[in-house]
Amino acid sequence: MSSSFVPRLLSRNLRQICKPRASLTPLNARRAASSKHSKGFVAPSNDDLIELRESVQEFCRREITPEFAQKVDQTNEFPNEMWKKFGDAGFLGITADADYGGLAMGYQAHCIVMEELSRASGSIALSYAAHSQLCINQLVLNGSQAQKEKYLPGLISGEKIGALAMSEHSAGSDVVSMKTTAKAVDGGYLLNGTKMWITNGPDAHHIIIYAKTTPEAGKNGITAFILNTSTPGFSVATKLDKLGMRGSNTGELILDNVFVPTSDTLGPLNKGVKVLMHGLDLERLVLSAGPLGLMQAALDLVLPYTHQRIQFGIPVAHNQLVQARLADMYTKYRASQAFTMSVAAAVDKSAAAGGDGEVRTQDCAGAILYSAERATEVALDAIQLMGGMGYMNEVPAGRILRDAKLYEIGAGTSEVRRMVIGRAFNKEWTRAG
Ligand SMILES: Cc1cc2nc3c(=O)[nH]c(=O)nc-3n(C[C@H](O)[C@H](O)[C@H](O)COP(=O)(O)OP(=O)(O)OC[C@H]3O[C@@H](n4cnc5c(N)ncnc54)[C@H](O)[C@@H]3O)c2cc1C
Repeated sequence: MSSSFVPRLLSRNLRQICKPRASLTPLNARRAASSKHSKGFVAPSNDDLIELRESVQEFCRREITPEFAQKVDQTNEFPNEMWKKFGDAGFLGITADADYGGLAMGYQAHCIVMEELSRASGSIALSYAAHSQLCINQLVLNGSQAQKEKYLPGLISGEKIGALAMSEHSAGSDVVSMKTTAKAVDGGYLLNGTKMWITNGPDAHHIIIYAKTTPEAGKNGITAFILNTSTPGFSVATKLDKLGMRGSNTGELILDNVFVPTSDTLGPLNKGVKVLMHGLDLERLVLSAGPLGLMQAALDLVLPYTHQRIQFGIPVAHNQLVQARLADMYTKYRASQAFTMSVAAAVDKSAAAGGDGEVRTQDCAGAILYSAERATEVALDAIQLMGGMGYMNEVPAGRILRDAKLYEIGAGTSEVRRMVIGRAFNKEWTRAG
């Protein structure tokens, strides 16, 4: 929380911190049974996670200053030089195998990186998550060895940019009603259709994309593919102009007879829904850390301001009404963080104990449902506590609010998350009955 801590590892690169993980001991190899975790996964210690958090904070102090974050919002342009910097710092392959350049640190670690990047810039962090979680982690979970060897090193080093495309104009919450088709041809598939609201879409080299291989089978006819955007027939119709998350480039994509070789089918034919849903739980978990960072950013702003701003001869923070609001903001942040990190710890710890990395749908959906709604409230409180200044674009309170609102919509809306949690209960109780 405190913005005045002194990191212990200022001069150390994250890759050095995590070096021992790259060499697999027999015990580690046994622990690597989880299908949700990378090959060399060992649950990180609390000290590992503290060091990681400090490294990300140090990176942000150097590379994503408040002025830089404001410029990204104003220009609405992602700073593409950031990918290589993320790669060099080791942030892009947090959940990926060491064999491909990853750190094999698991989901607690990924949540921490996401939280701290979001604290510096919501939009840069959203693009980061689309690349490192939606694209890279889907490859880690579902890719063949050949696919991992081909795609992961470039994505993890930051030379290539990744994205994931499932949504369409007419298929958002009801994503399995997608219309994009993949027709079998000699040696592969021809993809036709459009994809909407795709984060990193305008810049991506590789996109995990879902299309119907057997349209008449409905949701049981969807297959996932790895699409190379240099393939003829692929184009970006528009880079979209958004309320918030400005600088995270979002695009509408067009597929006009785009050939994808059979070797780039991700997971089994017609089993795309499994790939999609499997990825969505973990996507929600990692994305739930975005609102945490935004809540931290709001507190970073208002705690000093309300203690320095004098009205009626005293700091405004000395008024009980202001204290109550600050207390609520802080408590919402801490409660949300505890929720997210406890779910991430359960996923990591069960894998480290030789299990399959317990992923409970209701917990992943619950973590993002809760943190996203709290972040919007906390951002609104930040504006209120700063009075007229909070309403000015020279301070980031407004940007934090605009960025926070996305998390109630992207990766499934709050309504859909409630539905998903309710359905998970129905499934359990039907089974129990
Ligand atoms: C900035 C941004 C980035 C995104 N990035 C990506 C990306 O990288 N990849 C990708 O594939 N997609 C991406 N999306 C798309 C996102 O996942 C969808 O916008 C989201 O799933 C909601 O779908 P929709 O917009 O079609 O809303 P709709 O489905 O049209 O929903 C409209 C409203 O109706 C409600 N609603 C719908 N169905 C029900 C129901 N059954 N019960 C109750 N309420 C319901 C919704 O909750 C919502 O309030 C992104 C979106 C945004 C805004």
